[in-house]
Amino acid sequence: MPHYFIWTIGCQMNKAESQQIAGYLDSAGYQAAASFSNADLVVLNTCVVRQSAENKVLGTLGLLKGLKNTHPDLQILVTGCLVDSDSQELQRRFPHVDLLFKPGDYPELIDWGHKQGMPIDQKLPRYPRNDGWMAPSPCALIPIIQGCDNFCSYCIVPYRRGREVSRPVGEIVCEVTELARRGIKEVTLLGQNVDSYGHDLPGHPDLADLLRELSSIDDLARIRFLTNHPKDMSLKLIEAMASLNKVCEHLELPVQSGDNDILKAMRRGYTVERYRELVHTLRSKIPHVSLSTDIIVGFPGETEEQFEHSLSLVQEMRFDVIHVAAYSPRPGTIAWREYQDNVAAEVKKERLHKIEELQTAIASEINSQLQGKEVEVLVEGKKKGKWFGRARSNKLVFFEDAGDWLGQLARIQIEKTSPWSLKGQVKNN
Ligand code: SF4
Repeated sequence: MPHYFIWTIGCQMNKAESQQIAGYLDSAGYQAAASFSNADLVVLNTCVVRQSAENKVLGTLGLLKGLKNTHPDLQILVTGCLVDSDSQELQRRFPHVDLLFKPGDYPELIDWGHKQGMPIDQKLPRYPRNDGWMAPSPCALIPIIQGCDNFCSYCIVPYRRGREVSRPVGEIVCEVTELARRGIKEVTLLGQNVDSYGHDLPGHPDLADLLRELSSIDDLARIRFLTNHPKDMSLKLIEAMASLNKVCEHLELPVQSGDNDILKAMRRGYTVERYRELVHTLRSKIPHVSLSTDIIVGFPGETEEQFEHSLSLVQEMRFDVIHVAAYSPRPGTIAWREYQDNVAAEVKKERLHKIEELQTAIASEINSQLQGKEVEVLVEGKKKGKWFGRARSNKLVFFEDAGDWLGQLARIQIEKTSPWSLKGQVKNN
């Protein structure tokens, strides 16, 4: 039986798409391998959102070139955001690659597979896999909208993933109902901007409408969604979150900068004041909502004073988690065309460390307040002898217990906290 190995880097959307690709390869009689070296077919699901990710992709492509020299029958497929409209240029640079296909372009994959004599089932449902290739998990990732219409000046995603296309409500509800029947307890709805969901569908249903529909699925315990856009998040959505018990109190709400001039240059479409107001509304309607954000430091022209504005916003907002990145120019984007990457690398590094240091202190303080409290944890697996899972707030929780907790909702009393995770013991009867 031939074997495949899927190498995935980048966002949750890539992870969801890799699950789908695994499903297609399974249908063709392939079996998951544990590494590149045991595989007859390799899929690289790539990300080029930051230079560091692109470097990893290029390094892996180099490694595969060596592998193909020694195993000429190895088939190499590349998808994800590396693949742009000029795939001929990519094919010229990487002649050892057998197929380049755009993210989510499954017809191209199926067509290629059929030409190779692979009996890929093209009617395979979109259900994410929950066995074999990945460790069994009670959680599933569900893409609900592809692409992005926003064109933030630093971002390559709209050029690679195209304009927004929403999946119909009925299709998503059917998929989640089937997953819940198979034992999935939690779904995370995915989109580059989930707040745009539905504007292109007949009748214009929105994310709040979709959450209501999904909440009525009996066996489903939890719903999450990401990523939100501060300019598009509606009061209707906040109120739906507040009123629907299955929707977890956690949001990914990228601010990117605490300075209005930088936000304007980034073309984010909101001000710091609008962001602050949004967080205030969220916290007043959904007490204890946990907030994650993204910040870019060293955007072209960012002065020390403008960086200080980001730092003081972090101090003021008290986010639960921050993903901080140093700006790197992405060829083809507006910022790459119009601005000079003029903040020195060591200054970017220093600013990144300042945000991380401040956030570590804030997260440590926020998490320490959970000491002695009970949280509900959906148990996702075991690591080094300890069960782990996520609280509704998305905080990672570990505990030790002899029982079989996989896929169960455990009540955990928190005994130890750190900025990154919590530890406790089971309180269920
Ligand atoms: S909202 Fe902005 S940052 Fe996010 S994917 Fe779209 S263009 Fe990129």
